[in-house]
Amino acid sequence: MTAEEIRLGKTRKKMFKDQVMEILPDGGNLNLCLTCGLCASGCPAAGIEGMDPRTFLRLAALGVDDEILSSEWAWWCTMCQRCIHACPMTIDIPRLIFNVRSAWPRDDRPKGILASCDASLKHDTCSAMGVSEEDWRFVVEDVLDEVRSAQPGFENLAAPIDKVGARLFLNQNSREPVTEPEEMVPLWKILHTVGADWTYGSKGWGAENYCMFLADDPAWEKILRTKVKAVEDLGCKVWLNTE
Ligand code: SF4
Ligand code: SF4
Repeated sequence: MTAEEIRLGKTRKKMFKDQVMEILPDGGNLNLCLTCGLCASGCPAAGIEGMDPRTFLRLAALGVDDEILSSEWAWWCTMCQRCIHACPMTIDIPRLIFNVRSAWPRDDRPKGILASCDASLKHDTCSAMGVSEEDWRFVVEDVLDEVRSAQPGFENLAAPIDKVGARLFLNQNSREPVTEPEEMVPLWKILHTVGADWTYGSKGWGAENYCMFLADDPAWEKILRTKVKAVEDLGCKVWLNTE
């Protein structure tokens, strides 16, 4: 895409240009972006919709907000931050992408992420599958009973919930108790074998946070605070997030 094709019009909004200046080093000097392309080289979203982080940064710096907002590329970014680590200027491109996402009307954001965020707000479990505390406890105890009775050597396997004072507070991807509960067992066995002092919480155990990916700040904060409170209420020393 050339500058001529983009047609830099006076009527276009340029709200992302200021944000680019904020993430650039040395008081917003775009010349310090060497256009080396290292940010794009390891980006899992590079090439999708003909976009990559370097091009995205340049478009934002040019002030062509309409083009940026009409592309769905911002939603392909995994927020992995590889581009920051690869960049010789450590330019925080994911922050710009997050700001672009938050500029979308909430209801227009990708339905899957939106639904998962909303589901995680339903219960204090923070489960993006909308799993209640009661259902969570039932599944864990059911799977545990099955393993104890059917697998020799694991008669004393434990999967504690709300064990006050446990050292580790373990999160769990909430898809597993819903779709493949037996997938939770290998980690239980490892923790059992090494004698770890751990617990799940009845609250705050959902490991994922789709509200962050949705760029919904208040919902993201609510999920995070619920999780932190669950860890602190049980007095756990280490929050072990497997995501
Ligand atoms: S890695 Fe950094 S300096 Fe290189 S093109 Fe990307 S943003 Fe610019
Ligand atoms: S944070 Fe986004 S833009 Fe950066 S490397 Fe990861 S996917 Fe690509």
